[in-house]
Amino acid sequence: MNEKLYIIPLDEGTRKFSGWLLNELCKRFTLKPQSGIVSRLPEESFNQKQNQYYATTILSKLELLKGTDFEMILATTEEDLFIPNKNFVMGQANSTSHTSVISTFRIKPEFYGLPEDEVLLKSRLLNLASHEVGHMLGLKNCLNKDCQMYVADTLTELDNRPETFCAECILNLTLPSKVKT
Ligand SMILES: [Zn+2]
Ligand SMILES: [Zn+2]
Repeated sequence: MNEKLYIIPLDEGTRKFSGWLLNELCKRFTLKPQSGIVSRLPEESFNQKQNQYYATTILSKLELLKGTDFEMILATTEEDLFIPNKNFVMGQANSTSHTSVISTFRIKPEFYGLPEDEVLLKSRLLNLASHEVGHMLGLKNCLNKDCQMYVADTLTELDNRPETFCAECILNLTLPSKVKT
C-alpha cells in the first residue's frame, strides 16, 4: 500500500501513546509511518453545555492539515466526543477525507470507578484505532460480530470486538491495492 499514516495527539494525555500506536497500526496495515504534524483540539468544536467536543468539526480541521489523498490522519484525545444523533462516540472517521479521531475518555477503567490499567487501555485504544483505519482505507461498518468493522457503541461491544477482519472485509481491504499495482 502507498498510504501514509499520521497519528496526531490533540492533548498531552494521549501524546505518550502516539509512537506505540503508529508503530502497531503501520505494521498491521502495511502503512508508511509519518510524523511532523502538530495540532490541538479546535476551540470551535467544544460544546459547553455538554462539556464534549464535536467530532465532525475536529475532522474538518484535520483535513486542512493533509497534503495528499494517500495521507491518513488519526487524531487522539482524552476529551469526550459527540456527534448530533449520539450522546457520545468513542471514535469517528471520515472515509472521504481520510481523517479520524478517537477518544480515551470512555475506555479508561477510571471512568467506571475502576483502578487504572494501562495494558487494558492500550488494547482498547488499538481496537478503536484499527477500526477507524479500516474506515480510512474505505471499509464500511460490518454486520459480522466477529469482525473489526463491527460497530461498538458500548464498552462491552468494544471489548468483545475482535481485532481481526472477516473474510469479506479482508477482500475489500486488499482489492484496491491489488488494482493499483
Ligand atoms: Zn465504524
Ligand atoms: Zn467485516
